[in-house]
Parts: sequence; structure tokens; C-alpha cells
Amino acid sequence: MADHRARGHVRDQPHRPDRRAVWLGTNNGLPWLPGWSNLPGLAPLLPLPVPRFTGILDAVPGTGGDVICGAGVGGTSLVYAGMLPQPSEEAFAAVFPSQVPYAELAAEHYPRALRRLRASPIPDDILAHERYTSTRTYLRYAQEAGASRTERLNLCYDWDVIRAELAGTAVPSASAGEYLWGVNSGAKLSVDRTYLAQAEATGRVTVKPLHVVTDVSAQPRGGYTVECQRIDEAGNTLERVRVLCDAVVFAAGATHTPELLVRARDIGTLPRLNEHVGTGFGTNGDRFIVLTGLPEPTLSRQGGPPGFLARDVPTPHGAVSMFHVPLPMPFETRSMVLLGMGKPNGFGTFHHNPLTGQVERHWPADGDQAAGLATKHLADRLARAAGGGIALEVGAVRQFTVHPVGGAVLGTACDLYGRLHGHPGLYCLDGSLIPGSTGLVNPALTIAAITERCLDTILTHDLRTVF
Ligand SMILES: Cc1cc2nc3c(=O)[nH]c(=O)nc-3n(C[C@H](O)[C@H](O)[C@H](O)COP(=O)(O)OP(=O)(O)OC[C@H]3O[C@@H](n4cnc5c(N)ncnc54)[C@H](O)[C@@H]3O)c2cc1C
Repeated sequence: MADHRARGHVRDQPHRPDRRAVWLGTNNGLPWLPGWSNLPGLAPLLPLPVPRFTGILDAVPGTGGDVICGAGVGGTSLVYAGMLPQPSEEAFAAVFPSQVPYAELAAEHYPRALRRLRASPIPDDILAHERYTSTRTYLRYAQEAGASRTERLNLCYDWDVIRAELAGTAVPSASAGEYLWGVNSGAKLSVDRTYLAQAEATGRVTVKPLHVVTDVSAQPRGGYTVECQRIDEAGNTLERVRVLCDAVVFAAGATHTPELLVRARDIGTLPRLNEHVGTGFGTNGDRFIVLTGLPEPTLSRQGGPPGFLARDVPTPHGAVSMFHVPLPMPFETRSMVLLGMGKPNGFGTFHHNPLTGQVERHWPADGDQAAGLATKHLADRLARAAGGGIALEVGAVRQFTVHPVGGAVLGTACDLYGRLHGHPGLYCLDGSLIPGSTGLVNPALTIAAITERCLDTILTHDLRTVF
């Protein structure tokens, strides 16, 4: 996919995303997200035409709800906020198969993933800066609303670069609430700077940017072919590339891996993939809320990344975790955007449409109804704790998620180590493994920890038989 490193995604005009923002779109990626257009203060982000380019934000519509993910070398970490909470054992057990041992992950794989992602919590001196007013205010509201487990998050940022932003010697980006279109100061430690850089440093890995995988096929005498389009930065196909391999690891994320797998199964290039491929898709129970009309200022440039998570808060509709998403507002709005994560009560599926050749994603309209009610309940409590303000649901018109997970789930489409059933040598190691939710937390750390655990086993047991 696009190699954003080659060009450096430096923008110095907040609120004005240009062609580097969006993966092969013709506008800045927001028009099909009515919810986003409703956010107070985000009017400058309303759809703007941009030339077609291999930018970093991939907006993927689906029936019943849309997905936002990242594109390019570094994946969704190019656009994510970099929050890395670990689920509680109770919340994890409520969604994962019982054979996936939380204790082992907590002892070994979560800490290892945090080390490799170079995560650390927001330091006190940065938190005390005026720019972080809304973060401190959110923490106070959450504690006063009775969220007893409000914790400082692990985040993957270089805090010295954020200090430079605040001192005026680096372009204000993370500290101005920007991450959705990349962090232009270089403060964010996206995975191209951590995991991928470590892999490339071994000399055994070659990253091929701007190669879009279109098909994977099993070969009659064993092994697989991977068909790619090598494209230019405007998305034009330069050539078709075919790679022969003994093993293939799907890591295109929970939007695109299930698409590739469902299509391959249904057109017969990977005919032995099972019926569970393309099922168990979830939104992680995400619901966005705008808390507005607050009695105190929240500032226009709200310093990020999000610093605190109010986790596993009981409500009459089930437990929910919540954080405040600092954003660049064009003026003082006395508002803060909140994201609640509850437990989904329904799951989506992927279907191959033989008429169009496309794979369509279907999400049940009531699939995260309980999560929505729990989020609204907690947000109303925050408004009461604030002494004024109302909680408005952002996705009321059309649902969307920034945390798509599932579609090739552990223990159904795959075994418990990411081996796809039916085709030895095929693996899935990304968010598609997750059963619709990571247990009331953001998914990236759990995806990394589960992948670490899968790879421990794959590298020990499959090296001689498959590779
Ligand atoms: C705005 C935003 C903020 C977020 N904030 C957080 C956060 O703070 N904390 C958190 O835990 N999670 C966050 N997330 C979610 C998190 O980033 C993802 O869950 C996680 O990165 C998914 O990892 P993955 O490995 O499954 O796939 P991805 O990181 O999505 O990687 C998939 C890769 O595959 C490539 N690809 C896709 N299709 C093809 C193809 N056909 N051929 C070749 N390559 C292909 C893509 O370009 C991409 O590089 C956020 C997401 C968004 C959108």
C-alpha cells in the first residue's frame, strides 16, 4: 500500500486535510459520515474535494454502518490515537473463547506488545499544560460521575516531540488534537516506526508499498499465489504482480482481510475455507457522543492524545468504558467528544455478490443497541457531574466505527493461533481474529498481544512443516 514515509505527511494547516488524507477518494472522506458533520465545531471538516491520491484514511461504507481504517505502511496506526488499554479479565472473558488464556496473555504478551509499541502514559508536565484543559476536565467529570476505575492510559507517543509542539518548536499536531490524518510533528510512534522498523532491521523483511492484493489462490501442487496490482500514487495500475509462496499471512485488517477471504472461498480459489469466514464482525460496541453546553471552557485546540479511560463502568444497560477524544475545534465550543465502548449484542457478516464481484459487509442496525444505551447513560451522568450540558449521540443518523474487529474469528474460521481452517499455510493475524469486541477497550493492544501469542506457536511448530 502507500508508503507515507517516502513523502512525510507534514501538513501545517489544521482543519484542512488535503489529498494525503484519504485513500483513493475524491474528497476528504467525511460525506458519507453524517454523524461527523454534526459535530459542533467540525464544520471546517465538511467534505472538500481533493485529488485522488493514496492518502492514509480509508473510508469503507457498508450496509448498516461504515468503517474508518488506515491505509499505507503502518496501517491504521497511521491514523489512530495510539491508546493502548488492556481489557480487564472479566471483560475479556465475556467475549473471547475460554481456551484463550487471559492469564498467559497478561503475563507475557500484553507487556511484550506494550514494550514493542514503545508505550508510556502522558507525563505530568504535559498534562498540566493549558492545552490539556479538556483532558483534566474530563477526568474530573468521570470521577465525580462515579467511574471508580479511571486510569491513565498507555500511549505510543514521543513525549519530547509533544513538549516541542507546546514550546512552539514543532508543528502543533498531537497537542492540538490531531491524529485522524496523521501527526505532522512526528510525535506518534506508529507501527512503521516500531514493529515494522524492527522487522526491517533484521534484513529479512522487504516492505513493498503501493501493492494492492486482489486475489489469493491455492495451487494444485501445494503453496499459494498472491495476485497484486502495483499502483501509482493516483491509484492507476502500473502492472500486475504474481507472488508464489509456501505460506500467506492475511493482515489487511478486519475490513479488508474478510473481504479477500470471503471472495476467495466463494469464487473457489481458496475453496476449503469454512463457513465461519466472514462472520462474527463487530464494531467493538463503539458509540460516539458529543457533550456540549458545558459550564466551563474546553478550548479550541484540545491537547491530545486521549489521556484517560473510565473503564468497565456499570450501567443498567451493561458495563461501558469511555474516553474523551480531544479534537481541533475552530473556536471555543464548551464541548467534548466522548467515545463509549460497550459489549455488542449482534454481529455482522460479509457476503460475496456474484453479480458485482464485490464483497459487501452487513451490520445489524440493533447490533450495538445496548452499548449505545450504556454509553448514553454514562454520558448523561457526566453532564450531571459537570453541572450542565447535554449528551448528543453522533451516530444517530448513520452508524460507523473506528474499531472494526472480526470476520475470521479465533476458534471458528481459524484455530486459536490464527491458522485458517482448510488450508495449511494460510494465517490470519490482525483484527479479524477478534470476536466482535476486545472487552470494553480499544482494540490495538489486544490485536498485538493475540498476534504475539499466535506467532509464538506458529514459529515454534509450523516452521519446518510449512515455511
Ligand atoms: C481514527 C482512529 C483512531 C483509532 N484510535 C485507536 C486507539 O487509540 N487505540 C486503539 O487500540 N485502536 C484505535 N483505533 C483502531 C486501531 O487502529 C485498529 O484496530 C488497528 O490498527 C487494526 O490493526 P490491524 O492489524 O487489524 O489492521 P490495520 O492496522 O488496519 O492494517 C491493515 C493494513 O493492510 C493494508 N491493506 C488492506 N487491504 C489491503 C490489500 N488488499 N492489499 C495490501 N494491503 C492491504 C492496509 O493498507 C493496512 O496497512 C483507531 C482507529 C481509527 C480509524
